[in-house]
Amino acid sequence: MSSIAAKLQQVRQRITRACDGAGRPAQSVTLLAVSKTFGATPVREAHAAGQRDFGENYVQEALAKMDALADLRAELRWHFIGPLQSNKTRAVAEGFDWVHSVDRLKIAQRLAEQRPAHLPPLQLCLQVNISGEASKSGLRPDEVHAVAQAVAALPAQRVRLRGLMAIPEPVEDAAAQRRPHRALHELLTALNASGLALDTLSMGMSADLEAAVAEGATLVRVGTAIFGVRDVSRP
Ligand SMILES: *Cc1c(COP(=O)(O)O)cnc(C)c1O
Repeated sequence: MSSIAAKLQQVRQRITRACDGAGRPAQSVTLLAVSKTFGATPVREAHAAGQRDFGENYVQEALAKMDALADLRAELRWHFIGPLQSNKTRAVAEGFDWVHSVDRLKIAQRLAEQRPAHLPPLQLCLQVNISGEASKSGLRPDEVHAVAQAVAALPAQRVRLRGLMAIPEPVEDAAAQRRPHRALHELLTALNASGLALDTLSMGMSADLEAAVAEGATLVRVGTAIFGVRDVSRP
């Protein structure tokens, strides 16, 4: 077994155990393999081990990788999870299946305008700055209701609002890890109570996926625990 296949198996076991602990079916959590900074070959290995959802942060890097993996396109789902500038929305609208990092209405409007009509709707999550960190991108929790209503009203053939995403401040303590995840879940519940029908909570990474699953994550974004430590000196 390749080392990536072995690590994928370990991560899937962590998810299954966390689901067991929370009384949830293991299939209620999708594993998104975050392949940023890693090349097409590790993605191919992960695909051979059954992985289908991949997350990318940098548009140019992702497009090159998708090109190298074009033969697998029909089987893969590509998720954009990085900061998204206006001048990159067209490439994302044309190349990806999901965007988790929508942090203002203008970005969602551009994605809706630029999503090609022959593709299924682009699936969107709003990124929320749930820990209130000054340096982090994402909507403030008090901004989310208005933006969610406006995004949900965009043309449904082009974009579909699915839920919320957050990157909480890293903390060690398990109870402290659960707090921001619980807050994001409560925000999703409040949006649904106000008439939306959102089904996706994108939260939990290599270090805190158990806490996220315990608080209702439906999709965890895992990089390091699958592909290894990233070379941060790379652009
Ligand atoms: C890099 C990244 C991840 C994966 O983080 P790991 O700690 O390597 O699992 C998840 N989500 C986002 C938005 C990221 O940028």
